[in-house]
Amino acid sequence: MKKYNFTAGPCMLDRSVLEKTAQAVLDFNGMGLSLAEISHRSKDFQAVIDEAEALVKELLEVPEGYSVLFLGGGASMEFCMIPYNFLITKAGYLNTGVWAKKAMKEAKLFGEVVEVASSADANYTFIPKDWTCPTDLDYLHITTNNTIYGTEIRKDLDVPVRMIADMSSDIFSRPVDVSKYDAIYGGAQKNLSMAGVTIVIVKNDVLGRAPREIPTMLDYRTHVDKGSMFNTPPVVPIYTAMENLRWMKAMGGMKAMDKLAHDRAEIVYGEIDRNKLFRGTVKEEDRSLMNICFVMNDEYAELEKPFFDFATERGMVGIKGHRSVGGFRASTYNAMTIEGCQALVKAMQDFEAQH
Ligand SMILES: *Cc1c(COP(=O)(O)O)cnc(C)c1O
Repeated sequence: MKKYNFTAGPCMLDRSVLEKTAQAVLDFNGMGLSLAEISHRSKDFQAVIDEAEALVKELLEVPEGYSVLFLGGGASMEFCMIPYNFLITKAGYLNTGVWAKKAMKEAKLFGEVVEVASSADANYTFIPKDWTCPTDLDYLHITTNNTIYGTEIRKDLDVPVRMIADMSSDIFSRPVDVSKYDAIYGGAQKNLSMAGVTIVIVKNDVLGRAPREIPTMLDYRTHVDKGSMFNTPPVVPIYTAMENLRWMKAMGGMKAMDKLAHDRAEIVYGEIDRNKLFRGTVKEEDRSLMNICFVMNDEYAELEKPFFDFATERGMVGIKGHRSVGGFRASTYNAMTIEGCQALVKAMQDFEAQH
């Protein structure tokens, strides 16, 4: 049976990207050697990381003066590296979910942290809107997509300070005005590659301002200076990122990814709103195009497990909601097809017909 992978992360990748990775792991560039067993400093691998970097710059239209890094440690490591490198006296954090909170916790180790707004009291079911951004912040940190709760800030905010964004779960799903950010980061396993590599886009001239000694590996300057090759980078996930970036480009780039994201989400949210059994969990205007959260309507609460089993039997994988929201979460990242969304909708409709 055909499987449709709605897992929140690590998530699905296009089949062609996986096949090319598999091929390179067996025999890289016809060398008779595996990608996994050659030097990261070989010219064949250098070409991979160079192309990945160039494609990131091309697809996101990264302006001059920014570096693209491929690091280890996940987005969670960036929660600490960001304030280590950028917090001088005071930073602002928009608290829109568990990931934002974790980022804030680390920042408090390095200086004053202002929570500019929060939707924690409402279990993060909306993006706070009516708040003013202090003008004396070193940076404002936002989480553009809240993977767990299914809310998203799908535009580049206008604020009077520089922004830093955790874009782990919606990077490469839309055009971004990179010039508004001092840094953008994300764990790759949501929309870029397999787990193991973290992408960081950082503005070079803001580095080195923080008045503290930074351990070598946690200092962005180390990685900028060495082109992400200070130590052995995660070569296979970087290769997969390169193939996936090639795939995104061939599909039409960020405008096409954005359109597909809207199309997929419209199909699934449309059914959630129409179907008598289900309802969405977040404020409509803040609905994420990447992680679609929904629950059974109260009068059908006992059908939660039966629907999960019904959908699973039809090939839907990973639709169980996060424990802090319950119900269901259908993650519709770049590689999810319209056909996959239609299959989920059909399962929802057929299940409704039985009840
Ligand atoms: C998954 C996720 C993280 C954590 O990423 P790791 O790479 O596992 O550390 C952080 N932020 C957001 C928004 C995420 O979705």
